[in-house]
Amino acid sequence: ASINQISSRIFPAFERSFSAAASPSEPIRATLFPGDGIGPEIAESVKHVFNAAQVPIEWEEHFVGDKVDPRTESFLTWESLESVRRNGVGLKGPMATPIGKGHRSLNLTLRKELGLYANVRPCYSLPGYKTRYDDVNLVTIRENTEGEYSGLEHQVVRGVVESLKIITRQASLRVAEYAFHYAKANGRQRVSAIHKANIMRKTDGLFLKCCREVAEKYPEITYEEVIIDNCCMMLVKNPSLFDVLVMPNLYGDIISDLCAGLIGGLGLTPSCNIGEGGIALAEAVHGSAPDIAGKNLSNPTALLLSSVMMLRHLKLTDKADQIHNAILNTISEGKYRTVDLGGNSSTTDFTKAVCDHL
Ligand code: NAD
Repeated sequence: ASINQISSRIFPAFERSFSAAASPSEPIRATLFPGDGIGPEIAESVKHVFNAAQVPIEWEEHFVGDKVDPRTESFLTWESLESVRRNGVGLKGPMATPIGKGHRSLNLTLRKELGLYANVRPCYSLPGYKTRYDDVNLVTIRENTEGEYSGLEHQVVRGVVESLKIITRQASLRVAEYAFHYAKANGRQRVSAIHKANIMRKTDGLFLKCCREVAEKYPEITYEEVIIDNCCMMLVKNPSLFDVLVMPNLYGDIISDLCAGLIGGLGLTPSCNIGEGGIALAEAVHGSAPDIAGKNLSNPTALLLSSVMMLRHLKLTDKADQIHNAILNTISEGKYRTVDLGGNSSTTDFTKAVCDHL
């Protein structure tokens, strides 16, 4: 099969739900946060490819500031948030968070302020790039606003700390509804709710209850529940058992990195945050990769594929297909691959090769 055929088979995610193509008469404005670490390098790669493919996008670029904005209580300025609200779409690079101290995660602030309630993380085997599996084709849908990420932590007494896991019926129903809607719109057959309700009986119990409620409205989709530890084992043993997975925040964060490992690593996996009022903010699954930042070594594929998700959301289907196929063809051909994929190409050489494949 040609890459074109393979690509439409393995990448139904984010396609059919927005299938009608758009041809805007004026450029569409989209917000761009280059982010930290490798963020500016891979954002540069996206800009380069978009220019070469003549994508009708005008970037509104916002840098993460170096001073706390009192209105957001973080390094993220109010103007940056307003830009995403106004444009409705954007692409963000990774944002670093200090470990165990310092400011609150900018990623959390963004998700909270923009009501980005679902994070969609497609993960599929890339044609021509061999890993232990050649049939991975799944989508993790992560609840994005609560769970252990509520930011409610405090010291009870010296030597004892408490962290609150919040699960609400409203957020659980919303993400479950999104997962089933997504499965139906993208021709997927199964939704698995991933949980630990045998131990977290109240919180994950409520999450499951909401998933079951929504599942009843979608009799054409097979619904199952899998305990997270078993899910990890099944994913590593036979990832083709899964189709769409929906889960609370922390589990989604961890499981999607596990999934990235199945297909070749974090350099390859894209995502898109879906928010209230139809906001879409695409971003790679990976972080700022400080170990390779500034060395022209990073793989821009994950952010490029995220930008493809953004284009599909905007119904710029032709441009999305063109860029998507150019990325797959470049990797499949094997001449230009970044170091994380066993090659020796720099970020800029790989980007150039993608442009040559457009
Ligand atoms: P990471 O994802 O940045 O890196 C993990 C490993 O994967 C590293 O070895 C890195 O070199 C490699 N890697 C990641 N992306 C790559 C790419 N595009 N090309 C080649 N190799 C790549 O995770 P980490 O090191 O645990 O976190 C670093 C920082 O990123 C932390 O401050 C963390 O809070 C932040 N982070 C941000 C986000 C986000 O913005 N959404 C997500 C995860 C982590």
